[in-house]
Amino acid sequence: MINRRSFIGSAAAGILLPASLARAAVKTNPFTLGVASGCPRSDSVILWTRLAPDPLQGGGMPPADIAVGFRVWEDAERRKLLREGTVAAPAADAHSVHLKLAGLRPGREYWYSFTIGDFESPLGRTRTTSRDTGNVRLALASCQSWQSGFYAAHSDIATWAPDCVIHIGDYIYEGGIGTIGTRTVQKPGETLSFRTVRLHNSAEIVTLWDYRNRYALYKSDRALQAAHAAAPWIVAMDDHEVDNNWAGDVPQDPWAQTPLEFRVRKLAAFKAWYEHMPVERPPKIDGISASLAMNDVFRFGQAQVHLLDTRQHRSDQVCGEGFPGQAPCTELGIAERTLLGTAQEQWLARELRASGARYNVLASQIWLSPWRFDAGGDAPEVNMDAWDGYPAARQRLIGTLADGVANPVIISGDWHCAAAMTLHERPFDPSSRPIAREFAGTSISSDCGWMREMEDSRAVNAHARYLNARHRGYCRFEADARHWTTTYRTVADPYHAESPVRTDVEMRLTDL
Ligand code: FE
Ligand code: CA
Repeated sequence: MINRRSFIGSAAAGILLPASLARAAVKTNPFTLGVASGCPRSDSVILWTRLAPDPLQGGGMPPADIAVGFRVWEDAERRKLLREGTVAAPAADAHSVHLKLAGLRPGREYWYSFTIGDFESPLGRTRTTSRDTGNVRLALASCQSWQSGFYAAHSDIATWAPDCVIHIGDYIYEGGIGTIGTRTVQKPGETLSFRTVRLHNSAEIVTLWDYRNRYALYKSDRALQAAHAAAPWIVAMDDHEVDNNWAGDVPQDPWAQTPLEFRVRKLAAFKAWYEHMPVERPPKIDGISASLAMNDVFRFGQAQVHLLDTRQHRSDQVCGEGFPGQAPCTELGIAERTLLGTAQEQWLARELRASGARYNVLASQIWLSPWRFDAGGDAPEVNMDAWDGYPAARQRLIGTLADGVANPVIISGDWHCAAAMTLHERPFDPSSRPIAREFAGTSISSDCGWMREMEDSRAVNAHARYLNARHRGYCRFEADARHWTTTYRTVADPYHAESPVRTDVEMRLTDL
């Protein structure tokens, strides 16, 4: 029954404590942060856990690399053991485990767990991809502010158990500690109210210690753990995993942190992100500079998903900080300003040309479709942090998509409200040729304080078929040989962990 025992990983960085000594060094359950899997391929997947008996205080592990046991089964009842072995949890990676499980079969489910002595992790389910899958089921999640709501949406994702969860950023928020209670915001004709239901664990996070403890706080949530244990995830960070609205080497508030400080902060943020995500590639670290290889391509049956990195390679935002809309300025027109960077733009064009998939999905952190907040005219007021703030780069991408790419589907987040839109060749001219459909997910739990402005500007945004800025939730996508179906799931009460989650609207696409 057992066909392979293996030891994976090396302990080049330190002494590897064998299982018996490792067990002696761990006094309480080290699997407090659950398990996860990610980067699903047709023959491999990454399995993740992190040993953290004292999760909010740096983890609480001794400063040695630890040998962790793992087992993989072909059934949820754990009757058919496929593989078992040992993998290193390096101290230098905060005792996280990134185990690449290779040699798997396409389109199959697997179950896995980790052990240290008699401590055993929760059981995780994962799934390899397949080009031949008839019906693909994907979930889209983003923006899960700890303080502003509970994760009922994640419980619903766990119940649905899709082929993959695509998380496109704001997995954590970097801010400090709020105040429990209700906060009201006065808008013309309406008083909006928002609640803070639970608190962050420190002031604004800056150091590696801070980022690790913040990830541990978020990952202590049972619903989030359940969603990770239910399906593999593909993940790309947005801004709040580092600092609000950062761009390349520029923080949101360059007057408050020097370039050197921001570089060190980014290194810490990137390292902690790797340590807590089921991804394959650690950050490349060169002195105090770090970079992540985040953009990637995944194939799920009829759908090819291009996961974009719209944060790390972008030019800085221009024109000012007007919110939610900012009037344009001369710099907006500079042709060289980029959002993806040249290398990623070329990579994306290559992947799209070679895809052959029926649906070509672009998972973009930020909205690709336009949204204007003014009354109409030639100078639209837009969110300068989204693709709206990078019109030349967007036009280049539209050119690529218009050039024979089958059924481009954009899925996006960041903006905390749900919208289904059509992207046109001239984005602000809905009479121009339709190029792509966009489904912007809402947020798992983050507030949309600009919901009134979104609703009030709906009439001048005729390319939007659906808008819901009032509810938290996530999207389900299903693709088969005939249809693409998007289902917006909404959380009835974001301030209640056990809230019901319902279908708000279901949309079915035929070919573009
Ligand atoms: Fe967000
Ligand atoms: Ca964001």
